[in-house]
Amino acid sequence: MAIIVQKYGGTSVGSVERIYNVAHRVAAAVDAGHSIAVVVSAMGDTTDELVSLARSVAACPSEREMAVLLSTGEQVTIALLAMALENLGCNAASFTGPQAGVVTDGSKLNSRITAFSAVRVKKALAEGKVAVVAGFQGADKDGEINTLGRGGSDTTAVALAAALQAHSCEIYTDVDGVFTCDPRIVPDARKMNEITYDEMLELASLGAKVLHPRAVECGKGHGVVIHVRSSFHYEPGTLVKEEIDLETGTVIRGIACDKGQAKIAVVGVPDKPGVAARIFTAIGKANVNVDLIVQSIRREGENDILFTVCADELPKTLTVLEPLVKDVGAKELFHQNSVAKISVVGSGMVNSTGVAAGMFQAMAAENINIEIISTSEIKITCLIAEDRVEDAARAIHKYFNLSDVPLYPENSSETTEVTGRNNQVCRGIQ
Ligand code: ADP
Ligand code: ASP
Ligand code: MG
Repeated sequence: MAIIVQKYGGTSVGSVERIYNVAHRVAAAVDAGHSIAVVVSAMGDTTDELVSLARSVAACPSEREMAVLLSTGEQVTIALLAMALENLGCNAASFTGPQAGVVTDGSKLNSRITAFSAVRVKKALAEGKVAVVAGFQGADKDGEINTLGRGGSDTTAVALAAALQAHSCEIYTDVDGVFTCDPRIVPDARKMNEITYDEMLELASLGAKVLHPRAVECGKGHGVVIHVRSSFHYEPGTLVKEEIDLETGTVIRGIACDKGQAKIAVVGVPDKPGVAARIFTAIGKANVNVDLIVQSIRREGENDILFTVCADELPKTLTVLEPLVKDVGAKELFHQNSVAKISVVGSGMVNSTGVAAGMFQAMAAENINIEIISTSEIKITCLIAEDRVEDAARAIHKYFNLSDVPLYPENSSETTEVTGRNNQVCRGIQ
């Protein structure tokens, strides 16, 4: 009897009707002879609503209480889905993250899973029940509630597939799979049949929220093939795996957009060793993730340091920086909200020239100004005004003909059931 992990996101469980849609799909898989563990997100926009609710009570709520609050969203869904399954005559048991054995690293709102025993989930499956597990949450070694960061239910699902050595891990969502760009921004974006972990990791880290970056990391680390697909029909979606049948000549795999960024400039920084280290150590200690960093060329013994953070983290970053700016002898501190990242990703870029030029030309033709550029072997990222990011995505997608390029040979992904790499089942997680 194959163990299958299915994960349903917020839209897919956004109403009672949709919870029943999920229950019917799960019950059908059980009837087909499979052993099913389901991971669910909070219903619809519940997590956003909980964030607003917290902010209406306190301007800067503590991370501990935020984690306690946000974890309630998923707990509502597990109970409702288990009830719906029981109502359909399908034995089910719900488990919170800690009950399922998700151990996290202690970071309250952006935690990593450090261990996943899944003892009670395995027992429920052995008893012929559907195990319904809350995504996005766990408890640290002291029993403190932690959440995994926005979109983190994907990571719970992939880690559970590893822990159960599941036959497959299916991420059911509100689009048909992974596209060359967010199909809500670029309507003629093309669905990919397959994508490598490395390319998916870049796209996800750069803002393609169809998969949580740590879910991809976990999939790669434990050999779990991830099947991203729609919860509204049964067509195959996109397989995220190690090796794919790439058509030669494909340079760009996709485009990712990330709104909600903030730019910070520390101006007139003394040009001497240790200053950047002090600035970024202080920010790191405050648990803020710094993204793009640029230092201007030296002039009269001074530099400017520019970097970006997620806009939500701007107040915390400024609180840390304001006293430090004087201490390190810098002249001024500027910040700007409403900037966004636009990135092109593709492992074929390693051996290609002209991609950066093409990306810049496509934006220039739309009169879009580039504020910061950052590159790695397989990606180019530009910081631009937030209100131009959709135009930029459409222009770059068109410039590189991403709708037309046949990305993979025909028939490369006809199957709906997948196993781990080399056709083995997923390896375990400690
Ligand atoms: P869920 O609630 O199921 O986890 P999410 O909203 O987190 O769903 O992720 C799905 C969304 O990701 C889609 O609705 C789509 O707008 C967005 N998205 C961004 N980039 C991509 C991409 N490259 N391919 C597919 N969807 C994408
Ligand atoms: N409910 C959480 C969020 O909205 C986690 C998830 O959906 O994956 O970010
Ligand atoms: Mg998601």
